[in-house]
Amino acid sequence: MRQALSVTSECVPFVKTGGLADVAGALPAALAGHGWETRTILPGYRQVMAALKRPKAVMTEDDLFGGKARVLAAKAAGQQILVIDAPHLFDRPGGPYLDPNGADWPDNAERFAALGWMAARVAAEGITGFAPEVLHVHDWQGGFAPVYLAEMGARDRVGSVLTIHNIAFHGLAPASLRERLRLPASGFSQDGFEFWGQINALKAGIVWADRITTVSPTYAEELKTPDFGWGLDGVLRMRGADFRGILNGIDLDLWNPATDPGIDRFTAPSGKRKARARLRHEFGLPEAEGPLAVVVSRLSEQKGLDLLLDALPALTDGGGQLVLLGSGDRRLEFEWQRAAQHRDVAVHIGYDEGLSHRVIAGGDAILVPSRFEPCGLTQMYGLRYGTIPVVARTGGLADTVIDASPVALRSGVATGIQFHPVTAHALAGALGRLCDLHRQPKVWARMQKNAMLQDLGWDLAAADYAGLYAQVSRR
Ligand code: ADP
Repeated sequence: MRQALSVTSECVPFVKTGGLADVAGALPAALAGHGWETRTILPGYRQVMAALKRPKAVMTEDDLFGGKARVLAAKAAGQQILVIDAPHLFDRPGGPYLDPNGADWPDNAERFAALGWMAARVAAEGITGFAPEVLHVHDWQGGFAPVYLAEMGARDRVGSVLTIHNIAFHGLAPASLRERLRLPASGFSQDGFEFWGQINALKAGIVWADRITTVSPTYAEELKTPDFGWGLDGVLRMRGADFRGILNGIDLDLWNPATDPGIDRFTAPSGKRKARARLRHEFGLPEAEGPLAVVVSRLSEQKGLDLLLDALPALTDGGGQLVLLGSGDRRLEFEWQRAAQHRDVAVHIGYDEGLSHRVIAGGDAILVPSRFEPCGLTQMYGLRYGTIPVVARTGGLADTVIDASPVALRSGVATGIQFHPVTAHALAGALGRLCDLHRQPKVWARMQKNAMLQDLGWDLAAADYAGLYAQVSRR
């Protein structure tokens, strides 16, 4: 098997704040089917260290940005992982990026430079039994790794790929940190990692990696425009054909309505009745004729759930109901709690993996009104569970859902509803369409069946990544 090193700040089942963790956790198994053995290197946060059984130290570093560090190798949850044991950087309460009060850790630049540094060393030097041909870094947290690889003189031996999961996060650091971050002076320029007077970790990855991908073809096109590029559209346009979209898959074992241990299982749309009744009961909603719509999401500006607050009457006046599971922005949490005073709206503020399965299984429709969405996973979970997605026509949402247009309905291929532009007005229109379609049992059942049959696995994406790895490999 050929070998690759995946560099990530989160990975299912060890640590997760969003879709990146799902991707990083699922891709290695899928790539194995295409001839690539992938090991994953990630920071030794408390919960990651706790998951290790009999780890083996495979590399040491005397001074990793202020303290001693080791790389530990272990097999955990069926994955080969390399963990950076550096207590001065990672042994803390709170999340991967934020302290317990929700503020960025002040030394995040060093913490993730440390991830990139140790990843580059493993790639450049190799460890027993593992000499990767390809370094695959994810998001800004891995952005410096290709720079370090070049600085270590290993660029002619190891190829590199950067995947952008969300361009909104750049990993900015003050210019004064350049030397401390072990970045070359020559790189601090407009065609390097400089960005409006600061250091930009994501831009470093975009400039230094051999190839760049993002998680859907539509998002790749969007990123090359000023409206979506967050200031990096120019540099992405410059990379030309080196940059493209590869659509994410989902974990078909973890998200399988026929085997999901946490739900009332079903194999056909008609079997959803129990799960739906249980969800209504769990959330204290009355029986209703209209569609039970659900949301599972971070509450942030990106996700457009402020628009849903305004559009909600289009659902409830049409006989529909809403269950929302989410957490994040305090003001949105407050406003959604207030919205839950309506008899047909129920809200759970929090992050709850088990509940997310019950919510998605029990819903008739899942709403994803994002202003931008690199790929989006919950609409795919919805498809798999016969829960019809109602989505903004952007990014991966545009690439995964077939809108119930007249021609799609006539041809019997629709799987959901798309709307555009991303406004409360257009969303209200989509919710109206949802209620209409739900009133037509034959049409609705056909959409559900199509949705559940859609191929959502990782295999196609893994084949694409494997092809890309072979292209950038020096061997
Ligand atoms: P993003 O990465 O931008 O948050 P994605 O749709 O790509 O969006 O991935 C979100 C992931 O997080 C999905 O697996 C979703 O089920 C999960 N998720 C989001 N919010 C919650 C929540 N409150 N409780 C449980 N799971 C959640």
